[in-house]
Amino acid sequence: MMTNATYPDLDGKLVVITGGGRGIGLATARRFLEQGSRVVVLDLANGEAELDAEFIELDVTDAGAVASTADELTARLGIPDVLLNAAGIVRSANAEDMSADDWTRVIDVNLSGTFHVCQAFGRHMLAAGRGAIVNIASMSGTVSNFPQKQVSYNASKAGVMHLTKTLAGEWADRGVRVNSISPGYIATDLTAALLEREPELGAVWRERTPTGRLGTPDEVASIILFLASEASSLMTGSDVIADGGYTVW
Ligand code: NDP
Repeated sequence: MMTNATYPDLDGKLVVITGGGRGIGLATARRFLEQGSRVVVLDLANGEAELDAEFIELDVTDAGAVASTADELTARLGIPDVLLNAAGIVRSANAEDMSADDWTRVIDVNLSGTFHVCQAFGRHMLAAGRGAIVNIASMSGTVSNFPQKQVSYNASKAGVMHLTKTLAGEWADRGVRVNSISPGYIATDLTAALLEREPELGAVWRERTPTGRLGTPDEVASIILFLASEASSLMTGSDVIADGGYTVW
Protein backbone atom coordinates (compact mmCIF):
# COMPACT_ATOMS: atom_id res chain seq x y z
CA MET A 1 0.00 0.00 0.00
CA MET A 2 1.56 3.25 -1.13
CA THR A 3 1.97 5.98 1.47
CA ASN A 4 4.06 9.13 1.43
CA ALA A 5 5.31 8.47 -2.14
CA THR A 6 8.01 10.88 -3.25
CA TYR A 7 8.79 8.96 -6.44
CA PRO A 8 5.60 7.60 -8.01
CA ASP A 9 7.64 5.70 -10.63
CA LEU A 10 8.91 3.39 -7.85
CA ASP A 11 5.37 2.19 -7.11
CA GLY A 12 5.15 -1.53 -7.86
CA LYS A 13 8.84 -1.81 -8.79
CA LEU A 14 10.84 -4.86 -7.70
CA VAL A 15 13.77 -3.80 -5.49
CA VAL A 16 16.55 -6.13 -4.35
CA ILE A 17 18.70 -5.00 -1.42
CA THR A 18 21.81 -6.76 -0.12
CA GLY A 19 22.62 -6.14 3.54
CA GLY A 20 19.07 -4.95 4.09
CA GLY A 21 18.73 -6.63 7.48
CA ARG A 22 20.21 -3.71 9.35
CA GLY A 23 21.44 -0.13 9.12
CA ILE A 24 21.33 1.81 5.85
CA GLY A 25 19.99 -1.15 3.86
CA LEU A 26 17.10 -1.66 6.28
CA ALA A 27 16.22 2.06 6.39
CA THR A 28 16.22 2.12 2.60
CA ALA A 29 14.04 -1.00 2.41
CA ARG A 30 11.46 0.79 4.56
CA ARG A 31 11.56 3.87 2.30
CA PHE A 32 11.09 1.77 -0.85
CA LEU A 33 8.10 0.09 0.78
CA GLU A 34 6.64 3.55 1.45
CA GLN A 35 6.88 4.21 -2.29
CA GLY A 36 4.84 1.09 -3.00
CA SER A 37 7.85 -0.95 -4.19
CA ARG A 38 8.14 -4.70 -3.66
CA VAL A 39 11.31 -5.43 -1.66
CA VAL A 40 13.51 -8.52 -1.42
CA VAL A 41 16.34 -8.46 1.11
CA LEU A 42 19.45 -10.60 0.67
CA ASP A 43 21.42 -10.85 3.90
CA LEU A 44 23.50 -13.22 6.02
CA ALA A 45 20.73 -13.65 8.56
CA ASN A 46 16.96 -13.57 8.32
CA GLY A 47 16.11 -10.01 9.36
CA GLU A 48 13.25 -7.97 10.70
CA ALA A 49 10.02 -9.92 10.94
CA GLU A 50 7.90 -6.76 10.87
CA LEU A 51 9.28 -5.60 7.52
CA ASP A 52 6.86 -6.34 4.69
CA ALA A 53 9.63 -7.80 2.53
CA GLU A 54 10.93 -11.19 1.54
CA PHE A 55 14.22 -12.18 3.18
CA ILE A 56 16.62 -14.58 1.50
CA GLU A 57 19.74 -15.73 3.32
CA LEU A 58 22.77 -15.14 1.14
CA ASP A 59 26.47 -14.47 1.60
CA VAL A 60 27.41 -12.07 -1.19
CA THR A 61 30.94 -13.52 -1.29
CA ASP A 62 29.57 -16.83 -2.59
CA ALA A 63 29.49 -16.14 -6.34
CA GLY A 64 27.70 -19.41 -7.16
CA ALA A 65 24.97 -18.82 -4.58
CA VAL A 66 24.57 -15.22 -5.75
CA ALA A 67 24.09 -16.38 -9.36
CA SER A 68 21.57 -19.09 -8.46
CA THR A 69 19.67 -16.69 -6.17
CA ALA A 70 19.48 -14.12 -8.98
CA ASP A 71 18.19 -16.75 -11.40
CA GLU A 72 15.65 -18.21 -8.95
CA LEU A 73 14.38 -14.83 -7.79
CA THR A 74 14.04 -13.54 -11.34
CA ALA A 75 12.18 -16.64 -12.52
CA ARG A 76 9.77 -16.40 -9.58
CA LEU A 77 9.23 -12.64 -9.16
CA GLY A 78 10.44 -11.08 -12.39
CA ILE A 79 13.50 -9.07 -13.30
CA PRO A 80 14.37 -6.52 -10.61
CA ASP A 81 13.99 -2.86 -11.50
CA VAL A 82 16.34 -1.70 -8.76
CA LEU A 83 19.36 -3.27 -7.11
CA LEU A 84 20.97 -1.78 -4.00
CA ASN A 85 24.29 -3.15 -2.75
CA ALA A 86 24.39 -2.24 0.94
CA ALA A 87 26.15 -5.31 2.39
CA GLY A 88 29.44 -4.24 3.90
CA ILE A 89 31.86 -4.84 6.76
CA VAL A 90 34.83 -3.09 8.32
CA ARG A 91 37.94 -4.36 10.10
CA SER A 92 40.33 -2.01 11.90
CA ALA A 93 44.08 -2.48 12.29
CA ASN A 94 47.31 -0.72 11.45
CA ALA A 95 48.30 -1.55 7.89
CA GLU A 96 51.43 -3.32 9.09
CA ASP A 97 49.40 -5.45 11.52
CA MET A 98 46.29 -6.24 9.47
CA SER A 99 45.85 -9.99 9.11
CA ALA A 100 45.54 -11.54 5.67
CA ASP A 101 42.08 -12.74 6.72
CA ASP A 102 40.92 -9.21 7.61
CA TRP A 103 42.25 -7.89 4.32
CA THR A 104 40.65 -10.66 2.27
CA ARG A 105 37.27 -10.75 4.01
CA VAL A 106 36.71 -7.00 3.65
CA ILE A 107 37.70 -7.00 -0.01
CA ASP A 108 35.57 -10.12 -0.57
CA VAL A 109 32.40 -8.70 0.99
CA ASN A 110 32.62 -5.04 -0.01
CA LEU A 111 34.20 -5.22 -3.45
CA SER A 112 33.95 -8.77 -4.80
CA GLY A 113 30.48 -9.24 -3.28
CA THR A 114 29.26 -6.06 -4.93
CA PHE A 115 30.66 -7.26 -8.24
CA HIS A 116 29.09 -10.74 -7.96
CA VAL A 117 25.68 -9.23 -7.21
CA CYS A 118 25.93 -6.58 -9.95
CA GLN A 119 26.97 -9.22 -12.48
CA ALA A 120 24.33 -11.79 -11.53
CA PHE A 121 21.39 -9.37 -11.46
CA GLY A 122 22.89 -7.13 -14.13
CA ARG A 123 22.70 -9.98 -16.68
CA HIS A 124 18.93 -10.12 -16.20
CA MET A 125 18.53 -6.33 -16.20
CA LEU A 126 20.52 -6.11 -19.43
CA ALA A 127 18.28 -8.74 -21.00
CA ALA A 128 15.28 -6.60 -20.01
CA GLY A 129 17.01 -3.43 -21.21
CA ARG A 130 16.27 -1.52 -18.01
CA GLY A 131 17.27 -1.13 -14.40
CA ALA A 132 18.96 1.07 -11.82
CA ILE A 133 21.81 -0.16 -9.63
CA VAL A 134 23.04 1.76 -6.59
CA ASN A 135 26.23 0.67 -4.84
CA ILE A 136 27.15 1.98 -1.41
CA ALA A 137 30.77 3.10 -1.49
CA SER A 138 32.02 5.49 1.21
CA MET A 139 33.89 8.73 1.66
CA SER A 140 36.60 6.28 2.78
CA GLY A 141 37.08 5.49 -0.90
CA THR A 142 38.36 9.06 -1.30
CA VAL A 143 40.00 9.94 2.04
CA SER A 144 41.95 7.71 4.42
CA ASN A 145 40.15 8.88 7.59
CA PHE A 146 43.31 8.81 9.68
CA PRO A 147 43.57 8.16 12.68
CA GLN A 148 41.23 5.29 11.86
CA LYS A 149 43.15 2.35 10.49
CA GLN A 150 41.12 0.64 7.85
CA VAL A 151 43.33 0.01 4.86
CA SER A 152 41.24 -2.88 3.54
CA TYR A 153 37.97 -0.96 3.93
CA ASN A 154 39.32 2.17 2.23
CA ALA A 155 40.75 0.17 -0.67
CA SER A 156 37.51 -1.80 -1.06
CA LYS A 157 35.41 1.36 -1.23
CA ALA A 158 37.70 3.00 -3.79
CA GLY A 159 37.21 -0.21 -5.75
CA VAL A 160 33.43 0.03 -5.47
CA MET A 161 33.53 3.55 -6.91
CA HIS A 162 35.55 2.46 -9.91
CA LEU A 163 33.58 -0.77 -10.36
CA THR A 164 30.50 1.44 -10.53
CA LYS A 165 31.97 3.71 -13.20
CA THR A 166 33.15 0.78 -15.29
CA LEU A 167 29.79 -1.02 -15.19
CA ALA A 168 28.03 2.26 -15.97
CA GLY A 169 30.15 2.72 -19.07
CA GLU A 170 29.59 -0.85 -20.27
CA TRP A 171 25.84 -0.89 -19.62
CA ALA A 172 24.65 2.66 -20.34
CA ASP A 173 23.55 1.99 -23.92
CA ARG A 174 21.60 -1.09 -22.79
CA GLY A 175 19.32 0.73 -20.37
CA VAL A 176 20.98 -0.11 -17.05
CA ARG A 177 22.21 2.80 -14.93
CA VAL A 178 24.84 2.24 -12.23
CA ASN A 179 25.64 4.88 -9.59
CA SER A 180 27.22 4.90 -6.16
CA ILE A 181 26.77 6.87 -2.99
CA SER A 182 29.60 7.75 -0.62
CA PRO A 183 28.25 8.40 2.86
CA GLY A 184 30.25 9.96 5.64
CA TYR A 185 29.76 8.81 9.22
CA ILE A 186 26.26 7.41 9.65
CA ALA A 187 24.76 6.26 12.95
CA THR A 188 24.39 2.48 12.48
CA ASP A 189 25.59 -0.69 14.21
CA LEU A 190 28.73 -0.51 12.05
CA THR A 191 29.84 2.84 13.48
CA ALA A 192 28.54 1.92 16.96
CA ALA A 193 30.93 -1.05 16.98
CA LEU A 194 33.84 1.20 16.01
CA LEU A 195 32.93 3.65 18.80
CA GLU A 196 32.68 0.84 21.31
CA ARG A 197 36.29 -0.08 20.57
CA GLU A 198 37.55 3.51 20.35
CA PRO A 199 35.08 5.95 22.02
CA GLU A 200 37.42 8.91 21.40
CA LEU A 201 36.71 8.64 17.67
CA GLY A 202 33.25 10.17 18.17
CA ALA A 203 34.69 13.62 18.96
CA VAL A 204 37.11 13.37 16.02
CA TRP A 205 34.28 12.49 13.63
CA ARG A 206 32.11 15.41 14.77
CA GLU A 207 35.00 17.88 14.74
CA ARG A 208 35.99 16.93 11.19
CA THR A 209 32.44 16.90 9.85
CA PRO A 210 31.39 20.49 9.07
CA THR A 211 27.76 19.75 9.98
CA GLY A 212 29.05 18.57 13.37
CA ARG A 213 27.01 15.39 13.54
CA LEU A 214 26.66 11.87 12.21
CA GLY A 215 24.18 11.34 9.40
CA THR A 216 21.15 9.10 9.75
CA PRO A 217 20.41 5.99 7.67
CA ASP A 218 17.24 7.73 6.51
CA GLU A 219 19.22 10.64 5.07
CA VAL A 220 21.25 8.20 3.01
CA ALA A 221 18.09 6.35 1.97
CA SER A 222 16.62 9.58 0.56
CA ILE A 223 19.50 9.88 -1.89
CA ILE A 224 19.39 6.19 -2.80
CA LEU A 225 15.70 6.54 -3.69
CA PHE A 226 16.54 9.47 -5.96
CA LEU A 227 19.30 7.44 -7.69
CA ALA A 228 16.89 4.52 -8.12
CA SER A 229 14.06 6.60 -9.56
CA GLU A 230 13.56 8.13 -12.98
CA ALA A 231 14.24 11.49 -11.33
CA SER A 232 17.94 10.72 -11.87
CA SER A 233 17.55 9.33 -15.40
CA LEU A 234 20.50 11.33 -16.74
CA MET A 235 22.87 9.99 -14.08
CA THR A 236 25.05 6.96 -14.55
CA GLY A 237 28.60 6.38 -13.32
CA SER A 238 28.15 9.11 -10.71
CA ASP A 239 29.24 8.94 -7.11
CA VAL A 240 27.12 11.09 -4.80
CA ILE A 241 28.96 12.26 -1.71
CA ALA A 242 26.73 12.47 1.37
CA ASP A 243 29.13 13.21 4.20
CA GLY A 244 28.02 16.42 5.94
CA GLY A 245 30.95 18.13 4.22
CA TYR A 246 33.68 15.84 5.62
CA THR A 247 35.61 15.69 2.35
CA VAL A 248 35.58 19.45 1.67
CA TRP A 249 38.69 19.95 3.82
P1 NDP B 1 25.48 -2.50 9.15
O1 NDP B 1 26.58 -3.26 9.77
O2 NDP B 1 24.48 -1.83 10.02
O3 NDP B 1 24.69 -3.42 8.09
C1 NDP B 1 25.40 -4.16 7.14
C2 NDP B 1 24.55 -5.31 6.69
O4 NDP B 1 25.30 -6.08 5.72
C3 NDP B 1 24.17 -6.26 7.81
O5 NDP B 1 22.81 -6.61 7.73
C4 NDP B 1 25.08 -7.46 7.57
O6 NDP B 1 24.55 -8.70 7.98
C5 NDP B 1 25.15 -7.45 6.04
N1 NDP B 1 26.27 -8.24 5.55
C6 NDP B 1 27.55 -8.25 6.01
N2 NDP B 1 28.28 -9.14 5.34
C7 NDP B 1 27.46 -9.72 4.43
C8 NDP B 1 27.63 -10.73 3.46
N3 NDP B 1 28.82 -11.35 3.28
N4 NDP B 1 26.57 -11.10 2.70
C9 NDP B 1 25.36 -10.49 2.86
N5 NDP B 1 25.15 -9.52 3.79
C10 NDP B 1 26.18 -9.15 4.56
O7 NDP B 1 26.22 -1.42 8.20
P2 NDP B 1 25.74 -0.01 7.63
O8 NDP B 1 24.29 -0.02 7.41
O9 NDP B 1 26.38 1.03 8.44
O10 NDP B 1 26.50 -0.03 6.22
C11 NDP B 1 25.83 -0.35 5.01
C12 NDP B 1 26.80 -0.03 3.88
O11 NDP B 1 27.14 1.36 3.94
C13 NDP B 1 28.11 -0.79 3.97
O12 NDP B 1 28.57 -1.10 2.67
C14 NDP B 1 29.05 0.22 4.61
O13 NDP B 1 30.39 -0.02 4.28
C15 NDP B 1 28.54 1.50 3.98
N6 NDP B 1 28.88 2.71 4.69
C16 NDP B 1 28.51 2.88 6.00
C17 NDP B 1 28.85 4.04 6.67
C18 NDP B 1 28.51 4.29 8.08
O14 NDP B 1 29.03 5.26 8.65
N7 NDP B 1 27.67 3.48 8.73
C19 NDP B 1 29.61 5.11 5.99
C20 NDP B 1 29.92 4.83 4.61
C21 NDP B 1 29.56 3.67 4.01
P3 NDP B 1 24.69 -9.16 9.54
O15 NDP B 1 23.75 -8.29 10.31
O16 NDP B 1 24.27 -10.58 9.54
O17 NDP B 1 26.10 -8.96 9.91
